[in-house]
Amino acid sequence: MATRVAINGYGTIGKRVADAVAAQSDMEIAGVTKTAPSFGCELAVRRGFPLYCTFDDTARISAFDTGGYECAGGLSKLLAAADVVVDCSPGKTGGENLAKYRQAGVKAIFQGGEPHNVTDLSYSSSANHDANLGADATRVVSCNTTGLSRTLVPLWQHCGSLAVECTMVRRAADPGDSGKGPINAIKPVLKVPSHHGPDLMTVCPEISINSLAVAVPTTIMHVHAIVATLPSGHGLTTESVVELLRTQPRVIVMHGGESRITTTAEVMEMARDIGRRWGDLHEIFVWEDGVSLQDDTLYYFQAIHQESDVVPENVDAIRALTGSETDWRASVAKTDAAIAAAQGTG
Ligand code: NAD
Repeated sequence: MATRVAINGYGTIGKRVADAVAAQSDMEIAGVTKTAPSFGCELAVRRGFPLYCTFDDTARISAFDTGGYECAGGLSKLLAAADVVVDCSPGKTGGENLAKYRQAGVKAIFQGGEPHNVTDLSYSSSANHDANLGADATRVVSCNTTGLSRTLVPLWQHCGSLAVECTMVRRAADPGDSGKGPINAIKPVLKVPSHHGPDLMTVCPEISINSLAVAVPTTIMHVHAIVATLPSGHGLTTESVVELLRTQPRVIVMHGGESRITTTAEVMEMARDIGRRWGDLHEIFVWEDGVSLQDDTLYYFQAIHQESDVVPENVDAIRALTGSETDWRASVAKTDAAIAAAQGTG
């Protein structure tokens, strides 16, 4: 029987996760929630997803009818029709929602805007699918941490140990948050180390990592400048590191000079050219000519599409919680093939 999935919070991440779930043959969307009738409801209607209200309040539920949308009920009704809820509410609201999910007896997945201690368990497909098997609740780590996990975990698995320093050059705001700055300024994040490195250690504590972050005035993509110290006797070369990264799922390695993809704007244009919905890029983009191994020190750059790399991870996390796929690579392959088929990009 297909796993019935509720999406609580049909915003930037929620609408993407809903499409990715709907593409899977072993899952179905039980419904999605909006707080009030708004433009976002239109997409749910077009996709044929049952629309529910985020709250159980009767006045708020009937406001949907007034706004011209059919609302199937409040959150409790949706949870009663679901096996797993993917909470895509704004960061730091998950803690309150968890109590409702527990009361309904529904497994729950939170996003990276929640602190690790909401669930005391975090998830990244390549790092710790096993540790999440059968759990009641978890948190898919943030877009940046997902990016770090995709490339650093296989390096750590190859080398046996890894010490990493990383500078995160991060977008200041999502495309919809035009009220946020900085504008014409570069803003160092004055919390050192930034939360990103320690967050990776919630899914792979064996990697020793610290990070600094700088916000820059762009709305698309983050870039990581990574410096990793490999243990002596690692046996790698620049070329074999490139090959190792090239063979990882959800990682794209391209030569910037040859492809002329030298900026994040061109990476995003490529995603649009290859027909990805919303122009998303689920993969982490690594510049081949930015990889350099000098003795035991490895340098590379990678770019992260902040709105989408976590999307397929949520699908894998559903399989981990239900225990329906114990092998992370098998889940990743299934997830990605189904999304590609649904988007006609397979
Ligand atoms: P968003 O603001 O685009 O969407 C959030 C949705 O939740 C909205 O539709 C909002 O109306 C709804 N909502 C408001 N209060 C709610 C509540 N109490 N319960 C349920 N839903 C509620 O936010 P987003 O960018 O999709 O972020 C969602 C989560 O994903 C956050 O934890 C965020 O940190 C994380 N995340 C965001 C990005 C990104 O680039 N946007 C990347 C990775 C992870």
